[in-house]
Amino acid sequence: MIVDLFSDTQTRPTPGMREAMARAEVGDEQSGSDPTTNALCARVADMLGMEDGVFMPSGTMCNLASILVQTRPGDEIICDDQSHLYNTEAAGSAAIGGVSVKALPTRVGLYTLEQAEAAIRVPQRTAPRSALISIEQTTSFSGGTVWDLGVMRAIRDLAHDKGLKAHIDGARLLNAVVATGISASDYAAGFDSAWIDLSKGLGCPVGAVLCGSRDFVVEAWRWKYRLGGAMRQSGVLAAAGLYALDHHIDQLAEDNANARSLHAAIRAAPGLAFDPTAGQSNILCFSVAGLGVTAADFAAACLDEEVRIRAIGRDQIRATANLDVDRAGIARAAEVILAKAAAFATRAETPPAAPPRLQPGALSQ
Ligand SMILES: *Cc1c(COP(=O)(O)O)cnc(C)c1O
Repeated sequence: MIVDLFSDTQTRPTPGMREAMARAEVGDEQSGSDPTTNALCARVADMLGMEDGVFMPSGTMCNLASILVQTRPGDEIICDDQSHLYNTEAAGSAAIGGVSVKALPTRVGLYTLEQAEAAIRVPQRTAPRSALISIEQTTSFSGGTVWDLGVMRAIRDLAHDKGLKAHIDGARLLNAVVATGISASDYAAGFDSAWIDLSKGLGCPVGAVLCGSRDFVVEAWRWKYRLGGAMRQSGVLAAAGLYALDHHIDQLAEDNANARSLHAAIRAAPGLAFDPTAGQSNILCFSVAGLGVTAADFAAACLDEEVRIRAIGRDQIRATANLDVDRAGIARAAEVILAKAAAFATRAETPPAAPPRLQPGALSQ
């Protein structure tokens, strides 16, 4: 069976989750009368220490609604240059919100207080208005790095001082929570908006919950409706979320541990390069540039051995631990990655051999 480390979005609902979904009490979400969805929103809002929450079909819509509520056309938002918001949301903030993005250059998705300070514009009639700053906890495309709470709070306070709103893209916030022991409400305290994804490591088929003040959620709901995200008997989906919060939080700790042990197993491999922050949560990124091979070719070679990892960019590989890969799967992945790294390293060191003499008929084989 394939060891699939492509993404934690590949996780499938477990039998227990499917049962919970089948049993869900449902109503009409759009009119606020789906009891299971209401229970999920209340539960996540409570977890994040926020007044209210709204169930969204995706994390992408959580980011977009947060931007639409907290900016006006012509405003500018600030985030890191590796972020999901900047790279893989089809420029929704520009296309729908008329907002420009200032993406701060980072190595692993973490920017500094000083960078944030320099990025916030002095109010002038010639400049876009800096309106919102976003922090991705944990970082997604840059290796599951965990933001330091003190830095997050300093950036949040700076934003508020300068009249900006502060947002957390918490797709994997709970991976940070289990990695550090810091609660979700400590991370989200004082932020204007924050959300968690249900369809990543938590293993649900669909959904995310966006939280903020009561007034924020009223406006976020309006955008959800406009964007076509309002639902009917969404309790079937929300039940999966409640089930995951009851049963899969420990799994996130397991995923983090699995990524850490994969890191430990392959970190010394020839030609693989890791950032010093690697292995903090369930995502492990590394470069294969030292092997003289592209990430796509390295990933393809591993897939030949039924280990699926993801090329993100020319040199970078991303492996994401998730509930469908157990310890044996991780050990298998480590074995294959090590073998492929060794094979490519040998090839890189061997001087190009004289071209073999073409045998008659060789081209037709
Ligand atoms: C997956 C992800 C999103 C988007 O969530 P979807 O539910 O896939 O739309 C946003 N931000 C980060 C950091 C993510 O990993």
